[in-house]
Amino acid sequence: MSGADVMDRQQSESPEIAALHQAAEALEQSSPQEILRWAVDRYAPHISLACSFGMQSVVVIDMLHDMGLLSDVEVFYLDTGVLFPETHQTRLKVSERYGIQPVRVAPRLSIAEQAVEHGEKLWERQPDACCYMRKVEPARQYLTGKRAWITGLRRGHSRTRSELPVVGWDAANDMAKINPMALLDEDTLWGYIKANKVPYNPLYDQGYPSIGCTPEQCTATVGIGGDQRAGRWAGRGKTECGLHVDGKSVKSLDSSNL
Ligand code: SF4
Repeated sequence: MSGADVMDRQQSESPEIAALHQAAEALEQSSPQEILRWAVDRYAPHISLACSFGMQSVVVIDMLHDMGLLSDVEVFYLDTGVLFPETHQTRLKVSERYGIQPVRVAPRLSIAEQAVEHGEKLWERQPDACCYMRKVEPARQYLTGKRAWITGLRRGHSRTRSELPVVGWDAANDMAKINPMALLDEDTLWGYIKANKVPYNPLYDQGYPSIGCTPEQCTATVGIGGDQRAGRWAGRGKTECGLHVDGKSVKSLDSSNL
């Protein structure tokens, strides 16, 4: 980017967004712990961690706990109503190990109510709409009033996440988004998990490199060496649930239009 481009960008950005761009550059080589410390210093107590009970987000919990910062961050999870039993078991283990009670964030409709209002198996016919109602909308409502949220996203998850900033502006939720695990590779993560005996979802050992809703809905196993997210919505032309796309895309999808 040229100097003129940088000046144009800075003049059109709010001070908060400009500060996040500067921080993203300054923290690019930093460890996840340094990024978390920066985020907690800047945003606590108005900062939350989105926890899927996947390996990344539980490692974030372990790091925050180790740094004495876990009580500064509210941990929440999206209970779509069709999570794996193993995911709930992992939640209970994490709660016990770290002494936390993650906030349950649920959609307005149960799976049965969704079938009555929008027809059976919406995830097969309109997975974007199903994800919007069961994940995106509840997350947005929960996050209202916060200043920042932390994710477990990594650049190595998929090509669509390859340019993920370590910190950035989330236009969809009008707040900062912190991605402390962005640069970590899978081997480093597993090394941390083993060395620190971090509880992890047993589904990883059963061939699920990315874990969402149950197989009847949207998650399949992936063969050795396959794309980490290839088992999510396989064959439906969908790669993201909508939580992590730009604001324009998300705002264009409204469950009231279903
Ligand atoms: S992952 Fe599937 S079942 Fe879960 S909310 Fe999205 S479309 Fe619905």
